[in-house]
Amino acid sequence: MAARRRGAILCPFCGRLTNADATVCLVCGHKHPGRWAFLARLRSLYGRHGLTGAVTIACIALYVVSLVFDPAAAIRPRGSFELFEPSGRALLALGATGYDLWPAGHWWTVLTAIYLHGGILHILFNVLWIRQLGPAVEELYGPGRFFVIFTVSGALGFVVSDTIGIPFTVGASGSIFGLLGAMVAYGRKRGGTFGTLVLKQYGQWALLLFILGFFMRSVNNYAHAGGFLGGFLAGLMLSFEDQRSETVLDHLLASACIGLTLIAFGLAWSSAFLS
Ligand SMILES: [Zn+2]
Repeated sequence: MAARRRGAILCPFCGRLTNADATVCLVCGHKHPGRWAFLARLRSLYGRHGLTGAVTIACIALYVVSLVFDPAAAIRPRGSFELFEPSGRALLALGATGYDLWPAGHWWTVLTAIYLHGGILHILFNVLWIRQLGPAVEELYGPGRFFVIFTVSGALGFVVSDTIGIPFTVGASGSIFGLLGAMVAYGRKRGGTFGTLVLKQYGQWALLLFILGFFMRSVNNYAHAGGFLGGFLAGLMLSFEDQRSETVLDHLLASACIGLTLIAFGLAWSSAFLS
């Protein structure tokens, strides 16, 4: 006979204590929580709040790869104050996006470009913002929902800028604006003194950063606007932790975003290096 868990388990749907043999969870009413106990692993995996760190590591690692890809180009001075700029060729091969996305059918670049950066200041600025906003969004929404917001907003930002006709673009700033948008959505939905405070604080940051974008060299303001909108809408649609803890659905959605991002890199690199 196959080994089956007995006794007390955490319901994979609501995270409360229930029994492996129960026909329904007494807290959330889901049928046969014991049969879905394997889903509880997702809960403990996401429960570690490590996704801000994972996203940071991915950005830094891919930045290093993009420099190593074309080292001579990376250290060649180009008459600007940007140091260590990866070459356009390197960024394109690794998954940069642009207006030829639609004619070429390279949908995956709206995901891969999020993790690529065009220079040392670009990545420094973005990583600092991710470290600033990520833990707050993970705290208020939950780590799985954080990753959904990060992915959806970054992708929407690039869909907007590719559609408008920006020729070549990379960077996590669309996702960063998405995190700001999600915080604003949280403030709006939660209301009260704390909600209003969050709404004002993050709304001001978003506005300031957006305006700053117009004064800086080669900033993709369309991706910023699209990213903010994506994060705001995702924030309105997803529940936050005070309202309802992350459910299996949130964890499956986050896993789908992780899977899709990995597939996107697979497609980008196979189309760059195998064809
Ligand atoms: Zn339950």
